[in-house]
Amino acid sequence: PDTITVQELANRMAEKGADLVKALFKMGMPVTVNQTIDQDTAELLVTEFGHEIKRVSEADIDIRHDMDVDDPAKLQPRAPVVTIMGHVDHGKTSLLDALRGANVQAGEAGGITQHIGAYQVKTPDGSIVTFLDTPGHEAFTEMRARGANVTDVAILVVAADDGLKPQSIESINHAKAAGVPIIVAINKIDKEGANPQRVRERLLEHEIIVEAMGGEVQDVEVSALKKTNLDKLLDAIALQAEIMELKANPDRNAEGTVVEAKLDKGRGPVATILVRRGTLRVGDIFVCGAESGRVRALVNDQGQQVKEAGPSMPVEVLGLGGVPMAGDTLVVVDNEARAREVAAYRQEQALKKRTAQAPVSLEGMFSALA
Ligand code: GDP
Ligand code: MG
Repeated sequence: PDTITVQELANRMAEKGADLVKALFKMGMPVTVNQTIDQDTAELLVTEFGHEIKRVSEADIDIRHDMDVDDPAKLQPRAPVVTIMGHVDHGKTSLLDALRGANVQAGEAGGITQHIGAYQVKTPDGSIVTFLDTPGHEAFTEMRARGANVTDVAILVVAADDGLKPQSIESINHAKAAGVPIIVAINKIDKEGANPQRVRERLLEHEIIVEAMGGEVQDVEVSALKKTNLDKLLDAIALQAEIMELKANPDRNAEGTVVEAKLDKGRGPVATILVRRGTLRVGDIFVCGAESGRVRALVNDQGQQVKEAGPSMPVEVLGLGGVPMAGDTLVVVDNEARAREVAAYRQEQALKKRTAQAPVSLEGMFSALA
C-alpha cells in the first residue's frame, strides 16, 4: 500500500526524476519515472539525496480547506459577495454599471474604474458589498462546477415590461440548487408597460414569495437607466447579509478564489482574487491552481496599489508564475519549497483528472489505425 511513483517522489524532493532513476539503477533497481517503489526504497533514496524524511499523509500534501476550520472567536464580519443573474437584456450589465457608478465619485483621487471581474460598493449604512462583474448564471454555474461557491446572495433581475423568461427561471433554479438567497430587482420600472405586480405574481409559480406577497424574499423596483432605487437595492443586500451573519477570520494566511485571470502584455500573468479568509499581503508566497508565485503587487478595483486585501475584497494579484483558471484557489503558504510541493501535487491531480475524464473512444482508435 505504501508506494510512490519515482516522479512523485522527485517532485516532493524538488529533484529531477531522471536523477532518481539513475540512483535507483545504481542500487540495482532498473525502473522508469512512472513506476512505483516501496516505502523503504523511497526512504533510502531520500537519505541518499541528503533530504530529510518527513512522513506526510495525502491531506498534508494539498491544503484541505474543509479540514482547517477557523476558531469561532477569530471570526469577523465580512462583506457579502453578490452575483447578478437574469434573462438576457433585462438589464444585468446596466445594473452592475449603475451600482458601481453610483459609488465612484468623479474626480476622486486616482479613482479610475478598472474592470477586474469584481468590485466593491458602499451601502447607505456604510457597509460594503462585493459584486462579481460577470453576470449571468453561466459564470455562476461554471464557478460552482469548479468547486468555487463564492456567491452569498443572488440578485435576480427581471424587466418589468417583459416579465419572467426562461433564463429568469433557470437563474432561480441555479440559486436554489446552490442554496443562495435571492433578492429580486424588478428593473425598467421607468418604461411604459412596466408591470411589477405581474412579476411578483409570476414568481409565486416558482416558489419565490416576495415580501409584498406575504413571503420573505426581498424585492426592489429599480431603474438601472434612471438610477432609481439603487440605494434601496443596496439596503436590501445589506439587510440580507446581516441576517446571514457572514464572517471570516482575517488574521491568518490568505485563501482566495480566482475570479478572472489573463496574461497582461506589460504586467505578465494577472489574476483577480476574491479573498475568502485571511489577509493577502505584498510579499506573500502562494500557490494558485497549479501555479506558484510571490505577490509582487496588489491592485484594487479603482486601479490603486494596495498593501493588503482582507476577506471579501477583490484584488488583482501580480507575481504569478503562470495564468491560473477562474475558480482556482489561491493559498498562501509559509515557504517556497511548500509552494512548489503543493503546485506539483495539484498539477499531478489535474493530470489524473484529465486522463480519467478523457476515455479513449474505440471509434477514434480505429480511425487512427485506418
Ligand atoms: P443584460 O443583457 O441583462 O446585461 O442587459 P443590458 O444591461 O445590456 O440591457 C439591455 C437593454 O435594456 C439596454 O438597451 C439597456 O439600455 C436597457 N435597459 C437596462 N436597464 C434599463 C432600465 O432600467 N430602463 C430602461 N428603459 N432600459 C433599460
Ligand atoms: Mg449584459
